[in-house]
Amino acid sequence: MRKIAIVGGGISGLATAFYLQEYALRPLDITLIERAPRLGGKIASAQESGFVVEGGPDSFLTRKPSALALCRHLGLNDDLIGCNDSKKTTYVWSGGQLHPLPEGMMLMAPTMALPFLRSRLISWTGKARMGMEALLPQRRANDDESLAGFVRRRLGQEALDKIAAPLMAGIFAADPERLSMQSAFPIFLEMERKHGGLLRAILRQKRAQQRSPVGPGPENASRSMFMTLRGGLQQLVDAIAARLHPQTVLLDRHALGVARVHERYRILLNDGSALYADEIVFATPSYVTADLIREIDPALALKLRGIRHVSTATVSLGFHSRDIARPLDGSGFVVPRNENRQITACSWSSTKFNHRAPEGCALLRVFVGGARAEALAEQDGAALVDLARRELRAILGITATPVLAKAYRWRKGNPQYDVGHQARIAEIDEIVAWHPGLHLAGAAYHGAGIPDCIDDAVKVARFIAQKTGASREMAV
Ligand SMILES: Cc1cc2nc3c(=O)[nH]c(=O)nc-3n(C[C@H](O)[C@H](O)[C@H](O)COP(=O)(O)OP(=O)(O)OC[C@H]3O[C@@H](n4cnc5c(N)ncnc54)[C@H](O)[C@@H]3O)c2cc1C
Repeated sequence: MRKIAIVGGGISGLATAFYLQEYALRPLDITLIERAPRLGGKIASAQESGFVVEGGPDSFLTRKPSALALCRHLGLNDDLIGCNDSKKTTYVWSGGQLHPLPEGMMLMAPTMALPFLRSRLISWTGKARMGMEALLPQRRANDDESLAGFVRRRLGQEALDKIAAPLMAGIFAADPERLSMQSAFPIFLEMERKHGGLLRAILRQKRAQQRSPVGPGPENASRSMFMTLRGGLQQLVDAIAARLHPQTVLLDRHALGVARVHERYRILLNDGSALYADEIVFATPSYVTADLIREIDPALALKLRGIRHVSTATVSLGFHSRDIARPLDGSGFVVPRNENRQITACSWSSTKFNHRAPEGCALLRVFVGGARAEALAEQDGAALVDLARRELRAILGITATPVLAKAYRWRKGNPQYDVGHQARIAEIDEIVAWHPGLHLAGAAYHGAGIPDCIDDAVKVARFIAQKTGASREMAV
């Protein structure tokens, strides 16, 4: 029987194991090795005093369907919940106030004139500069550029500082001066390439919709842009774990190094044992993978080490609703860097999703760290809670003691999609193809969100299953 080892039990490793098991017609001997005493990696939900707290991701995008499909495949349909679409306003902290992001913003680009013109977030000069976007010539060069470069060029500095940097670079905890447009937001490059600019693309899209209005379709009508699970995303992890054959998972054990021995891979574990496999899937952060494979291919290890990671932290605070004077009437707020605050954003978790706080309480989740403030995220849990409370006092006026406080630190937890990322990944993929039986999966390569990780896992599982000569067609 072919032996397959998967190193790393985050969503990438788990989904690989699950799909391998589901789609291989011949039984495979799969072992998943996970360093921690629990599965899930960055997916970490806790249920405490009636609150559902997410330490890492709190939801997944449904436009990329693989996470939703996996939940459905696992029978979690009844527990799927969408974000609260009636209260999805995002606020921006600017000049000592929270300003709603104008209605109709497509991330950085306004799609509706009136709400944009009425907004007090952007100055009149800033608005005029953004409006000029329609007149600007198209960039001819095809090479990658940074988010900051793109936004400054098309929409101006104010749009970058107040909208694009906190909102878009924030998703990746990235420095906008380094974040790759090609890898992170290719749709905006496409709008410029195809239509000459963002505003022109939006206008054409609107005209096309007026000519032939298309509804969302029965499938999409009930699907919100982001979804999660009633008991937290850990439910997805637990559901996968429950479907894996017993004996598949080795918890609390980690790989120390991997060598190639007689056409197989020998994985040395920290308990002194060794595991031999015909196929090995590294679903570990890319810098861990780099250390593990340095003996097999030092050049590949070097390339993997070139993918930077930054540290972030989240602090969830639960309060009695009566202690929060301001209505939490949106999904939360982001904080531009030049506001000189110590947090980058705050999600109003119990407004964003139902079932996140007990009756009479509210749950807020504060984000700390990222590319421009890593040291803040590396403080201990108590210091992080103090920091979050200080910031919420200053921004939202909350002085009460929280009824729940929980901090999660993600040291070097966020891969950075720097300018040139795609070229680096193409080189990595090419080198990997030279190593029979060696596979990479995870957030550092082809997309950093949960659906991207699952897509990667499906690709690897399909490849291995087909190699064994007996695979079911995968309906993912
Ligand atoms: C704060 C935060 C918020 C996020 N929010 C969202 C969101 O809302 N939506 C979204 O789609 N994505 C979000 N993401 C991204 C998403 O969570 C990750 O991309 C995804 O969970 C990564 O999964 P993974 O399996 O690739 O890696 P990981 O989850 O990092 O798993 C890797 C696993 O490898 C294990 N490991 C490490 N070394 C070894 C070793 N030597 N041997 C064995 N095991 C080892 C680790 O313990 C870990 O369990 C967020 C990330 C963070 C940090």
